[in-house]
Amino acid sequence: MKILVTGGGGFVGSHVVEAELESGNEVTAIDIASPSKLSHLEDRNGFNYVKADILAKDVLKPLIEDSDLIYHFAAIANVQTYVEDPLKVMSINIDGLRLVLDIAFRNNKKVVFSSTSEIYGKNLKVPWSEDDDRVLGPTSKQRWCYSSSKAIGEHMCFAYIDLGLRVAICRFFNFYGPKLDFLGRGRVLPVFLGQFLKNEPVTVVEPGDQTRCFTYISDGIDGILKVAHTEEAEGHVFNIGTNEEISVLELAKKIKIIGKFSSEIVMVPAEQIYGKGYEDIFRRVPDISKAKRMLGWEPKICLDEGLKKTIEWYKKNKE
Ligand code: UDP
Repeated sequence: MKILVTGGGGFVGSHVVEAELESGNEVTAIDIASPSKLSHLEDRNGFNYVKADILAKDVLKPLIEDSDLIYHFAAIANVQTYVEDPLKVMSINIDGLRLVLDIAFRNNKKVVFSSTSEIYGKNLKVPWSEDDDRVLGPTSKQRWCYSSSKAIGEHMCFAYIDLGLRVAICRFFNFYGPKLDFLGRGRVLPVFLGQFLKNEPVTVVEPGDQTRCFTYISDGIDGILKVAHTEEAEGHVFNIGTNEEISVLELAKKIKIIGKFSSEIVMVPAEQIYGKGYEDIFRRVPDISKAKRMLGWEPKICLDEGLKKTIEWYKKNKE
């Protein structure tokens, strides 16, 4: 099978590229970044990397035409960027998907769309099943532009599904693992690990009892591939995540113990990290019964084990 992974140079994309190559498929990745997360695959048969913008239609069109399946992962998925550059978030996330769906539709290609747990916003009724309500803050808080851009994306997917396009949607819950982000940047785990490894204070955003369910990347990839290769999943949306809930403060303490670090853990106001456009999500927990029932998927790696592997990897790859 010929597979195209948009955003194939990113965290989830690069792991999907690797998994699909392992399954014996031909894989092309398109990404605006250099292929640093895939440098070990450079000479591998059946692998091709195109460095280009997702909005470059003349580059994208022949790649989609030449593929059987498209994973659309090219997106901005970084809280700092939601609050600092919302126009970029919306343009890449909405216009990029529109382009992919349009070309896929004209050529009858299957699409897997990467959506997000941010869709549910701050709905306090956890765990969230796929049809639960979305509860968002005001549009004056740019944090919500990512959630909204992905929700528009899902609406577009469902509109194309109605027209007959084969699309399946995955909502990721805080995937983590090797290659997540550069140390000290991006999501909370590399930020904390960067601080621990430099023996600097670890900044837990107040109040610290906000929770997440961190999903180890191999479990996430396993779920995504099941969504992609199960015919019954077409036309559906799936939560892909663990339901092992932990507060951000407890996460910092756990990393400190597992990594044998000595940084102090300090509480900081959100504004110090994100500026004014930020609002936090108090609890985030998926109901994964649909993925279990329809795909036979469930996560296998507990947080302690996943953190151990991730910390080891970051200790070896510090730059
Ligand atoms: N967070 C934190 N310290 C930091 C960065 C993030 O305590 O230096 C918190 C953040 O406020 C949120 C959680 O960690 O409650 C997860 O943040 P992340 O950026 O990983 O993404 P999110 O899960 O909010 O999409």
